[in-house]
Amino acid sequence: MTTAFPGLRLAYVAAAVFLTALAYLSAQHQAHGCAAALCCTAALLLTAARRETLAARDRRAAAVRAERAARARALADDQLADVYARGWLDLHASCCLTAWHTGGTDHDPRHCTRKDHHA
Ligand SMILES: [Zn+2]
Repeated sequence: MTTAFPGLRLAYVAAAVFLTALAYLSAQHQAHGCAAALCCTAALLLTAARRETLAARDRRAAAVRAERAARARALADDQLADVYARGWLDLHASCCLTAWHTGGTDHDPRHCTRKDHHA
């Protein structure tokens, strides 16, 4: 949802005030039907201003939620990159793939570079 222009709410309220003033003048000149119609129109404008306020609040809330979700995704991506980086460092620091896989408890005697661990 987009706003027609930022001052739409203010324009609605100003128009409602103007119509209310016209309704007052109409009532003073005994045009009660016209005064009632102007009051109803002013009420419609105030309702539109209220709806515009609520819509603006919803748009702000949606924007905040989208920004928070984007931040969470970026953080998750950073954390995942850290996990991958640590995994690669651990793999390069291991003497053999079996030691990396078992956390150093087992070694592959055919490929292990630390021969002193095989007995
Ligand atoms: Zn090993």
